[in-house]
Amino acid sequence: MTIKLDHIDHWIFDLDNTLYSGDAAFFSQIDKKMTAYISDYLQLDPPDARKIQKQFLAEYGTSLSGLMAVHGMDPAPFLDFVHDVDLGHLDPCPDLPTAISTLPGKKYIFTNGSQKHAENVGKHLGIYDLFDGVFGIEDVDYVPKPQRSPYVKFCDVFDVEPSRAIMFEDSVRNLEVPKFMGMSTVLVTSDADWSHEPQHARPASAETSADWVDHMTDNLASWLNTNS
Ligand SMILES: [Mg+2]
Repeated sequence: MTIKLDHIDHWIFDLDNTLYSGDAAFFSQIDKKMTAYISDYLQLDPPDARKIQKQFLAEYGTSLSGLMAVHGMDPAPFLDFVHDVDLGHLDPCPDLPTAISTLPGKKYIFTNGSQKHAENVGKHLGIYDLFDGVFGIEDVDYVPKPQRSPYVKFCDVFDVEPSRAIMFEDSVRNLEVPKFMGMSTVLVTSDADWSHEPQHARPASAETSADWVDHMTDNLASWLNTNS
């Protein structure tokens, strides 16, 4: 069944585990690099560093945000380090470039990662040049989704009317504010086992439910092709 999306002219995509499948072993590299950086920065054993990393992720939206708030950490070296990963683990989806390029209206990436990370991954996936704007964590003064202010700033900067926008995310909690603002919401799910993540910070599985999620898919390209 095709969903009515004629009113949509702004298409907003999270990056990690949304524009590529959460099944990919790719994101776990970033996760491990964060643990290594925190272990070094706070002089903690890796298991303790990991505990802090996940605690901050749950409480602050990103581990980075917690490290900045509690420890006054400089974000730039952290972002450079954790996003320096091997793109060979990430298989581009052959159907995604066409699916995105044919969407009617403006398309954006809105990530809690860095601009450089969005560029590296977006280029690797063959989709980077298809977007009208890319919003990284630097653009929102390092205040991450799911807090409200980055969404408000995003809409201001790109002149987005929320009722004509749709947002794609693998994180359920990151869709609550956009729905409240008036956007349509799509949860991108995966079969990967994310049980090592704090419950509220996990990418969604097909069993996930929340009343602010309008639609769900485990295949972004085919969902876009069917519904746009
Ligand atoms: Mg994500």
